[in-house]
Amino acid sequence: MAEEGCVIGDVRCNTSACADDVTLNSKKPGETSVLISMAETFASYERYILQPKKTEALKVVTSSRKEIVEEDFEIYGNKITNADICTHLGLKRSHTISSTAEQNVDNNIQKARRTVYSFMSSGFYGAGGLDVPSILHILKMHIIPILLYGLEIILPKKTQIDKLEIFQKRILKQLLVLPSSTPDIAIYSISGLLPVKIQIHKRALIMYNNVCLQSESAVERRIAVRQLTIKSNKSASWFVDIRKLFWLYELGDPEDLLESPTEKEHWKRTVNRTIDNIWLQQTIAESKTMKTLQNLNMNMVKPRKPHPLLQQQAVSTYDANRQLLKLKFMCGKYILQSDRASFSKNKVDDTCRVCYKSPETLQHMVLECSGLSAVRDPIIRDIESEIEKSFPCLWQSYTQDQKVTALIDCTVLYKKHKLSKVECQRLHKIDFQCRRLFFTLHTKRFKIFELSKGAASARPLNTISKSVCSGNSAGNLLITKKPDGCYNSVDPLGSSRL
Ligand SMILES: [Zn+2]
Repeated sequence: MAEEGCVIGDVRCNTSACADDVTLNSKKPGETSVLISMAETFASYERYILQPKKTEALKVVTSSRKEIVEEDFEIYGNKITNADICTHLGLKRSHTISSTAEQNVDNNIQKARRTVYSFMSSGFYGAGGLDVPSILHILKMHIIPILLYGLEIILPKKTQIDKLEIFQKRILKQLLVLPSSTPDIAIYSISGLLPVKIQIHKRALIMYNNVCLQSESAVERRIAVRQLTIKSNKSASWFVDIRKLFWLYELGDPEDLLESPTEKEHWKRTVNRTIDNIWLQQTIAESKTMKTLQNLNMNMVKPRKPHPLLQQQAVSTYDANRQLLKLKFMCGKYILQSDRASFSKNKVDDTCRVCYKSPETLQHMVLECSGLSAVRDPIIRDIESEIEKSFPCLWQSYTQDQKVTALIDCTVLYKKHKLSKVECQRLHKIDFQCRRLFFTLHTKRFKIFELSKGAASARPLNTISKSVCSGNSAGNLLITKKPDGCYNSVDPLGSSRL
C-alpha cells in the first residue's frame, strides 16, 4: 500500500475499491496527485484505461478543515471534474457528513417510490389489485431494501429518519387502504414491518460484527480497534454510534465482540431477538392505551411476521377486497354513526341509520341491527358451525362484546401466542366467513344509506325509517341500479361466490 493519502491514527486508508469502482482518499493535494499517477501506472500494467469522463474529484469539508481546497487534479493530462456529489458503490458522498446523509436519504426515497410505481402494473395498489399477503411480500422483498440501502453506514439523524419513516408509513397505509389517521403501531403490528429506525439499527449492528469477523490486518477492523479505544462518546465516529446502540439495546460492550466475534447467523439472531423483544414490549404497552385497537389481538403480534390472518392468500380478487375492509375493523378505523357523534361532540345524532332504533355501535352493527339481520343471520350460522367444529360450546359462552372481538380477530379463540399450521388453517376457514360477514354488512348498510338519501329528499325521515325497517325487511328492499357500478358489483345476499 502506498505511503501517501489518508490516515486514521496509524491506519492507512487511502483507497477503497470494489470491482471497477475505486476511491482515492487524501488530505493533501500533493499526495492526491501521487495517488492518481500510481493508479494510472497500475492501470497501464494491467492493460486497462481509467475512464477520465467518469472520474470525479470531491473536496470534503472536515472538522479540522472548514474550507474547500482550491487545487485541481489531472488524469492522463486531462482535468478531473470537481463534483458536488459523487457516487461510490451506489452511495452518494457530498462535501459534508450532514449533506451526505440528506442526499442518500432523498435518493433512496426517490428510488423506492419509483420501484413502487413500477409494480403498479402488476396490481400493487390496494383495492382491486393484489391481496394483502402478496402486497406485504413485495413491499418487504423489493421496496424496503431499496429504501434502506446503505443507511447503516451513514446512520442518519432524526430529521432524516423521520422522512424515511413517513414514507414507509404512508406507502403502507395507502396500499392497505387505511386512513392516514390509523395508529402506526396498528399497521406495524399487522404488517410485520418494523419502524425504519429499528431496521437501520439492526443492519448497523450486523455490519459491525462483519467488521469484527475480518482478519486483524484488515483496515476496517484496525480502525474499529483504534476508534473504540481512543474516541470519546462525543465523537462523530461510526464506531462510537455503534457503541451507543450496544448500550441502547443492552447488548454488552462492542469491544467484547471485537475480541471474540460471533458467527454471522448467530449474531443476526441475537440482534433480531433482542431488538424485537424490546419493540414488542413497547408496542403492547402502547396499544393498551388505544381504544381503537381493543379488537386487535396483540398477543399474536410477532415482529417481522404479518398477523396470522394476513398470511393466507385471498381466494379471489373479490376476497382480496374483503381482506382490506376487514383491516379497517381490525385497526378500529371503520367509522360508525356513534363515532361521527363523538367526533362532532354530539352535534350529529348517533342513531343507527339502518333501523333507527338504537345508537349505531360496533356491537349493534355486527350483531344486533334488525335492518341487517336478513344478510347477517345466514353467515353467522356458517361462522358458528365453523367455530363449533374446532371449539365446541365456546361461542355460546361468549358475551356480545367477546363475540364482536372474535369476529374481527378470530385469533382470540386460541388462548396462546404460537399457533401450529393446523390451527392456522382452522382460523383461516373461520376468518374467511368473518370477512364475508363484514363485507356483506358493509355493502348492505351502504345500499340502505343510498336509498334513504334518495328517499329523504321526497319524504320525511320518520316515514323512511318505517319503510326501511318494517318486519326486518332489509333483504326485500328495492335496489336501484346505479350507473357508477360502485356497489352494484357487490352481491346483495352476502355473496359466497369466489
Ligand atoms: Zn340498526
